[in-house]
Order: sequence, then C-alpha cells, then structure tokens
Amino acid sequence: MIGIFGGTFDPVHYGHLRSALEVSEIAGLSEVRFIPCHRPPHRETPGATPRQRLEMLKIALENAPPSFRIDTREMERPGPSFMVDTLRSLRDEMGLRPMALILGADAFRGLERWHQWPDLFDLAHLLIMQRPGESSDWPQALADIFKEREAPGMPSLHERPQGLITSISVTPLAISASQIRSRLKAGKSVRFLTPDSVIERIRAWRLYSCGENETPPEA
Ligand code: ATP
Repeated sequence: MIGIFGGTFDPVHYGHLRSALEVSEIAGLSEVRFIPCHRPPHRETPGATPRQRLEMLKIALENAPPSFRIDTREMERPGPSFMVDTLRSLRDEMGLRPMALILGADAFRGLERWHQWPDLFDLAHLLIMQRPGESSDWPQALADIFKEREAPGMPSLHERPQGLITSISVTPLAISASQIRSRLKAGKSVRFLTPDSVIERIRAWRLYSCGENETPPEA
C-alpha cells in the first residue's frame, strides 16, 4: 500500500518526517509519497515560494529511507491544489492497488472544507495521525463517517483499494511549520525542529523574515 502525504511543507519539519516514518511502519506502507501543494486552497499564501518549499523538502529527504519519495504533480498543475484531483490522477496510475491518504488530526478536522471531500473515500483510505493538542472529538459528520468506515484492523486496509479510515498513534511531536516561522521571525533558534540542512537553506534564502532585523538563529 502506498501512502500519500500532502502538505504545504512551509517548511518541512521533524513532526512531518518522524510521523511519516511511524505511520509507514505501523501501516506497512511500501512507499510514502510526499506531495507538496502548489497553491493551498484552504490557507493563506505560504511564506516560501513553491520552488523553495520543494527544495527544502528534497534536502530534508536526502538521508530518508528510499521509500520516501517526492511527487511534484501538484506543483506542475495550474490552479489551486485540490487533493481530490491529485488522488484521481494517482488512482489512474495505480489501478486497484491500495492507496492511503495520510493526514494529521487537525487536517482531518477541517475535511468538510475540502473540495469534493466525500469523493476522497472513493479514491483512498484515510490514515489519521494524532497530533498534540488535537482531540478526537470530531464534528458530527466526520464522527459519523469515521464510525461507518473505521477499518476493522490494519490488514483490512491492504485488502481493498480505498474507503476505510483508521487513526494511528505516532510519537506526539508538537512541532508545526507556523511555530518554526514565528520563531524565525522572532530571531529564535529552530535547531532540532527541522534538519540542519533545511535551516541552512532558510538562512541562505532569508526566508520567513529570518535575519532581516535580527541575528539569524544558530544553525
Ligand atoms: P502550519 O503550522 O503552517 O499549519 P503544519 O506544520 O501543520 O503547517 P503542513 O505542511 O500544513 O504542516 O502539514 C502537512 C500534514 O502534516 C498535515 O496533514 C498535518 O496535519 C501533518 N502534520 C504536520 N505537523 C505534524 C506533527 N507535528 N505531527 C503529526 N502530523 C503533522
């Protein structure tokens, strides 16, 4: 089963990397496909350009397991990056192979705002990662869907191509890209929140107001 990990990655951090690794082990994924969005439909414009976010992701994955791959289809597609379009194009390529969308609990909570969200279940399973500070007290429609579609066990996800949901416990890491951006803006260190190679790139490109008026954080 292939895992699809979409995100803005503005910037990528250890919360993404470690959670992806644990989900991959627990769900028995043959591949984790990181798909950086070009233009996120549900949030403000990212602080870094699509190219810069992609480059940071590439650097972060340099020493990652070979099953961690980057897919640039959203970067190449004009218009807003709707996940449902991405999953449709992946499904066309994958035939009936099981495919699972990996989502943090915060992202799942906002699922009803996603373009054509009920169609997601016709295309992939959903693996929901717990995230610190997020309860699993979902809005009613999502709680109902969860109940209806909850996977009876991990093997069941491998037995059909799509349509089931499961929640996966990962080591809780309260790291977020917004926290990293605001620490940089305040001239604080972000070391050990994201790989040093990503921090070096942030400094070199002076991203997220880093180094504009403040001393750059130590790498
Ligand atoms: P921001 O703080 O800017 O909203 P983010 O840290 O949530 O960004 P995204 O690129 O928006 O990062 O997230 C991509 C996916 O990774 C989402 O499904 C999100 O829920 C999940 N995710 C991000 N950080 C973590 C974390 N620390 N633990 C588990 N999942 C995470």
